[in-house]
Amino acid sequence: MGSSAFLPRGDAECAELALCATWVAIYVSTFIFPSSYCLTMATPPVPSRLFQADVTWATLKPDEFQWLPCLLCGSPNYESLASLVINWSEFFIVKCPRCGLIWRTPMPDPGFLSDLYSEKYFNVAEHSPSLIYQVGIADADEQSHQMRRERTQQEVQDWLERGITAKNEKGQQRRLLEIGGGRGYLQLAAQEQGWDTLGVEISPHGIKSAISKGFIVLPIPLDQLCEKYLPHVNYFDLVVFFDFLEHVTDPGLVLRMIHFTLKDDGHIILRVPSTRQVPKLHLIDHICHFTPETLQLLLEREGFSIVETHHSGVFLAPSGDQIDNLTVTARKRPA
Ligand SMILES: [Zn+2]
Repeated sequence: MGSSAFLPRGDAECAELALCATWVAIYVSTFIFPSSYCLTMATPPVPSRLFQADVTWATLKPDEFQWLPCLLCGSPNYESLASLVINWSEFFIVKCPRCGLIWRTPMPDPGFLSDLYSEKYFNVAEHSPSLIYQVGIADADEQSHQMRRERTQQEVQDWLERGITAKNEKGQQRRLLEIGGGRGYLQLAAQEQGWDTLGVEISPHGIKSAISKGFIVLPIPLDQLCEKYLPHVNYFDLVVFFDFLEHVTDPGLVLRMIHFTLKDDGHIILRVPSTRQVPKLHLIDHICHFTPETLQLLLEREGFSIVETHHSGVFLAPSGDQIDNLTVTARKRPA
């Protein structure tokens, strides 16, 4: 702070000006630019808003929101890339400067996430047409169903090239667990090729749809996924989760649960949307955006070694926006 005591004697006018400037600086730093902004005179960039959406069938409880540190490395710092508004609450797409993970903060309350995946989510085109661009349901008609069935059959066929077979050396069926199987496409394709399958799903509508096709699907609320399956230690040969990991609030916890359920020589196959920049496509139901690097960090931290990675087409939203899909096969590293 300036003081007239350090000015040349007799320069009263200057002293008065310096004192005045000091008071202005105190006022500005206290009331206009609190904290460090006054020192650098820099204003943080305002992130661009991606969309504003009203989910009429699910209620947000802002009192229960959580501002968590980085979901991958725990760093408390992040850079805001973009924002969006859901039911009058603002959320930010942020990037961790330490590990590069991109995720959405704050974390909404668990009740909102449970309500979100109700039947209306799967029939959004009918119930809330204005939301069709912000929800990841892209197979609304019969042509899309057929395309997805064929694509899934090809996926399961391709596992053979990676040495992942439906039967073991003794000719016994191997066990496959699918998480977040929705309408049962993968279970159908895997059963056709000889796998013994089981699905877990959080959405009552997805469960109803899969059961009506004759599949075994257990209703597991997302927050109970880990507790309910921990007893099945070393049980499954393969755990598959397509378009699932980007939806969960704690991807590390989900992977730890899967590690427990897998046999020591078991594999996982997962597919996620992959981006390196501000996501071109962010959906109400997405929490994390992975890059090949952040996905590798996460998998290695949770006890998996990547066997193979490939780009697996694009997720095309009704808006015309698209994002690359990344499919990763990894092997369990026994503890
Ligand atoms: Zn991080």
